[in-house]
Amino acid sequence: MTVFYNFEKKMYINITNGCPCRCVFCIRNNGDSVYDNDSLWLEHEPDFEEIKAAFEAFDKTGMTDAVFCGFGEPTVRADMVVKTAEYIKQRSGMRIRLNTNGLVRLIHPDFDINRFKGLIDAVSISLNAPDAKRYNEVTRPSFGEKSFDAMIDFALDMKKICPSVGFTVVDIISEEEIERCRQISEELQIPLRVRAYVTDNESYT
Ligand code: SF4
Repeated sequence: MTVFYNFEKKMYINITNGCPCRCVFCIRNNGDSVYDNDSLWLEHEPDFEEIKAAFEAFDKTGMTDAVFCGFGEPTVRADMVVKTAEYIKQRSGMRIRLNTNGLVRLIHPDFDINRFKGLIDAVSISLNAPDAKRYNEVTRPSFGEKSFDAMIDFALDMKKICPSVGFTVVDIISEEEIERCRQISEELQIPLRVRAYVTDNESYT
């Protein structure tokens, strides 16, 4: 079972296959892993003891960065993200990034994102589209069109507690839509990275 894996010399963390979205570009549609790692489909969601054991066993030589990502939305297990990040910080001092769809407050309405403060050094949020209607079409969240505003609110609130906040968009939407995403990113002063759509699972972040 692959909980930690090496991708581009960073330690990636795979703690859940759960996700409230069905993004049209989701890498999970095209295979069961990334690059030459073992399958990222989990036999079960690892508990904290399993995560700690997997972390200790993982070869972290030369690695300075950890990334919550994997084959699912990490914040489906928001409590475990916090616990795992605390443990990684204590044991390694690695810089930690969270890749997320930004919907944690719809997934867990009682979760206080201030718990990420001091643990999550960078957050990459999937903007995916320039408005709620297109977001709903591209991301297909189980929460419907309110998801877009929830994601934007999450990004703005993370700016208050996290040193680095960024948006991503995958280039499956039109140039005009990407341009509108750029305008949103400028207005909110959150940098945007345009990612190429990948189908070969060899390039992914
Ligand atoms: S949010 Fe991430 S894991 Fe979930 S469907 Fe979209 S790309 Fe896949």
